[in-house]
Amino acid sequence: MRLPASLHALAESLAKLPSIGPRQAIRLALHISTLAPDRASILLDQLGNALRITRCTICDFPFDGDGTHCAICSDDERTNSVLMVVEKETDLLSMEKVGRYNGRYLITGTLPRSGQFTDKQQTLIARVLSSAPQEGYSEVILAVAATPHGELLAQQVTAHLKEHTKKITRLGRGLPRGGEVEFADEDTLGYSLDNRG
Ligand SMILES: [Zn+2]
Repeated sequence: MRLPASLHALAESLAKLPSIGPRQAIRLALHISTLAPDRASILLDQLGNALRITRCTICDFPFDGDGTHCAICSDDERTNSVLMVVEKETDLLSMEKVGRYNGRYLITGTLPRSGQFTDKQQTLIARVLSSAPQEGYSEVILAVAATPHGELLAQQVTAHLKEHTKKITRLGRGLPRGGEVEFADEDTLGYSLDNRG
């Protein structure tokens, strides 16, 4: 017995999403096929809205509506002289939850296997630099995972930003070895922010 072609196709698409395995994708496709019309219509609307999201032209964080800058980059209360570099949007969200960082961000995205920035990543770096204070940043904080991959990302960011900042620091002590920023709890992230070096 096989899945109907429509559900098979949906499961194949779902299986391409991060953290969704093939069996889980089939279960999800079957579940979606049973949704009541009002639930299904909400889901379709939300999917459509998510696909229309705007990305901040400075930090690359997504936001709803018009404009060019996200809420963080358009917040005058935040200092423009400190930049924190994170790999993913979820890292930014975790750091914001701590509530003790008051600078700007740059989300680089994942470094490719080559260990070199892609053209898109180079554009992101150029864009964030165009919004930097004239005298450069007073500090760039690398909030990257304590893994070999995070190390490579830190090296690339350092190579591109060292001419534009007085100092580069890195979240350090407290961050579990091999631990990702996203999954560190708020106390740990706060501690590693205080103990950066
Ligand atoms: Zn932004």
